[in-house]
Amino acid sequence: MTDATALIWFRRDLRVADQPTFLAAGRGARALALFVLDPRLMGPAGEARQWFLYGCLRALDQSLNGRLLVVEGDPAQVVPRIAREAGARAVHVAADFGPYGRARDEAVERALNEQGGELIRTGSPYAVAPGRVRTADGGRYRVFTPFRRAWADHGWRPPAATDAGFLDWIDPAALTVEALPIPSRTPVTANLPEPGEAAARRRWEVFRREHLEDYADGRDRPDRPGTSRLSAYLKFGCVHPRTLLAGMAGSSGSGAHSFRGELAWRDFYADVLDQRPDSAHRNYDRSFDALVTDSGPDADRLFAAWQEGRTGFPVVDAGMRQLLAEGWMHNRVRMITASFLVKDLHLPWWRGARHFMRSLVDGDLASNQHGWQWVAGSGTDAAPYFRVFNPVLQGERFDPDGDYVRTYVPELAGIAGKAVHQPWKLPGGPPRGYPAPVVDHRHERAVALERYEPVRAAR
Ligand code: FAD
Repeated sequence: MTDATALIWFRRDLRVADQPTFLAAGRGARALALFVLDPRLMGPAGEARQWFLYGCLRALDQSLNGRLLVVEGDPAQVVPRIAREAGARAVHVAADFGPYGRARDEAVERALNEQGGELIRTGSPYAVAPGRVRTADGGRYRVFTPFRRAWADHGWRPPAATDAGFLDWIDPAALTVEALPIPSRTPVTANLPEPGEAAARRRWEVFRREHLEDYADGRDRPDRPGTSRLSAYLKFGCVHPRTLLAGMAGSSGSGAHSFRGELAWRDFYADVLDQRPDSAHRNYDRSFDALVTDSGPDADRLFAAWQEGRTGFPVVDAGMRQLLAEGWMHNRVRMITASFLVKDLHLPWWRGARHFMRSLVDGDLASNQHGWQWVAGSGTDAAPYFRVFNPVLQGERFDPDGDYVRTYVPELAGIAGKAVHQPWKLPGGPPRGYPAPVVDHRHERAVALERYEPVRAAR
């Protein structure tokens, strides 16, 4: 093995610009570019996220002039074998802080060490990596606002000046490893964003030019294109948050302030998951273990109605159908649909979270599980458990003319204005083909509050 050859193992950093692993390998180094399709990660990803990932891999491969080696298997076996064959002692990655990613990397590291190699972690998918932002006495933050302040004080590195020509890419055809063709674009029913680094850059530029200034107000309106829709690109690292933060440096407007805040939430949830890996699947606040949730055939029927967007509550149904149609849902509507599942249907948050993770093109364990727990009341900074979203009022407030609902629920397309939020009040009842509400919100709200009593007592 020679020190001169590096293996760049791409994971959630599918780009060539602002790529700290390239800096770590050293300008001009001979390098092999690798991506491993790991069945453990591909399993829970639905077809939308897989389609997007394959598109990002194809775009990366094009940037590297066809020199991306894609293989399938358990990284703990595959990566050391390929490193051996390529004559690479150093395997460079951006650090992964998720529970699975961390354990996987430790296994890869052990195997590399045994053959005299090493795993070198440089950078992470975050502006500030989990564990770096600390309280004055070295502790970790459990509340967002002070975290955000300390996060901004900590600051982040400027983007790394890298591009595809930074390293001397080895042709993987020279190796005997069995390369996989990048899986072809399996047809998906969802209308998904264009994958890849160049598309991410374009989207960022459009957002910055047209929507950033009004983002503080615009971000809460699902009927308007007021958010960046960069989440899937951030998930796969087609663009790094550092690049976005650098692009806003010097912007003191409320839009930039608010957008920086959302990137801070992303880092905060990754930090919290790093502190408490168990919170991916259990209540962060364990007093919520005392909450009784429903199961059985009736619960399953209600869950199916929620998944399909057939609850009879228009803004909930529009959100769930947007998820099916685009592999994405507006943040405000994620909160409304999640609240409905937990507080109106009395189902456990993790059941909804699993459906989101499978369906979202931006599905991310930290943001998703903690977004859900925020709504359920069991997370950090959680919305108070006694705040129960009223789906009609939420619809009327954030989709005041009903345009969002009409876009995704064609059965309601003929109802003008905000009357679309209460179709059961129309003289003839809801239009043909659209269901009556599956529950009585006032009643379920009272049930939810009653069920929280043992949680309160357990605190
Ligand atoms: P913008 O408003 O343009 O925000 C810019 C970026 O900031 C986003 O791309 C995202 O990376 C980050 N961000 C924004 N809001 C949040 C937030 N509340 N928490 C963490 N990061 C945030 N986001 C995911 O990326 N993946 C998920 O799986 C996910 N699941 C969620 C589930 C629920 C129940 C809730 C309430 C929120 C969830 N979010 C998740 C957060 C948020 O809804 C999305 O990040 C956002 O809607 C993505 O759209 P955007 O890129 O246009 O966001």
